[in-house]
Amino acid sequence: MEIIIAKRAGFCFGVKRAVDMAFHVAGTGEKVYTLGPIIHNPQVIEKLQEQGVQPTADIDNPEIKSLIIRTHGVPKNVSEGLAAMHYEVLDATCPFVKKAQQYAKLLKEDGYQVLIIGDREHPEVKGLMSYAGEDVVVVNKDAALPRLKSRVGVVVQTTQPVTLLQKVIRDVLGQVREIKVFNTICNSTSLRLKETKEMAKKVDVMVVVGGKNSANTSQLAHLCASMSVPTYHIETAEEIRDEWFAGMQTIGITAGASTPDWIIKEVEERIRDRGGRARDGHSDQG
Ligand code: SF4
Repeated sequence: MEIIIAKRAGFCFGVKRAVDMAFHVAGTGEKVYTLGPIIHNPQVIEKLQEQGVQPTADIDNPEIKSLIIRTHGVPKNVSEGLAAMHYEVLDATCPFVKKAQQYAKLLKEDGYQVLIIGDREHPEVKGLMSYAGEDVVVVNKDAALPRLKSRVGVVVQTTQPVTLLQKVIRDVLGQVREIKVFNTICNSTSLRLKETKEMAKKVDVMVVVGGKNSANTSQLAHLCASMSVPTYHIETAEEIRDEWFAGMQTIGITAGASTPDWIIKEVEERIRDRGGRARDGHSDQG
């Protein structure tokens, strides 16, 4: 059995930066908190908890000595509240998300009605909305476009597909006099999806590794399953079953942006123990 591991499996740039920041301050003996779970991966959260880093939703918690802001960023009022706190604040907001916040602010200041493409309940979008002014509009793939003002400025939740951006731009053009677009989509997600799609075409079975609560990992698993390749979404190597690989020649492994390397490695080793051999350590997908 041949094992192919996706080149882009695991942490993206922003998640790696945030997790490194958390492990760096872990174990100092200080009370360190993250504002919400730092990533959607229970094993990483558990490891951090063992080293004294806890998630909290309460910025007024008197026990906090250091607080880490996660990659999604926070709304403007929370950011201002944190600046007045007595404790240290470590800002792990992904620089790409920060950039989108700045564009939303800029558009508002330039008099555009800001239109955000994304999921209104997602923390990243809540943050963007706080910079976008009171007439902000949020649309996703299911929402019809409301009536817009004559000058509209667009920013996008970093993980949205470019096809949705293209569709919304077409729809908006039918309504307004002027449109300004900042494409704030991060290509980490789309490249990972592309690579996974190519891989799923070539293998007999796909193993997708990552938190069951991780949206981007689930998206990878759904993509593979939709291509009629047997697909298993697992969080840890312990979930692997021998019967998945009976009669299979090639096994593809990919992982979401919140899956650490050590879990991917354990999965690979577990499959090797069942007779798998790696193809030059990595896939040849682009
Ligand atoms: S997916 Fe992109 S925007 Fe989101 S944290 Fe990772 S690098 Fe940053």
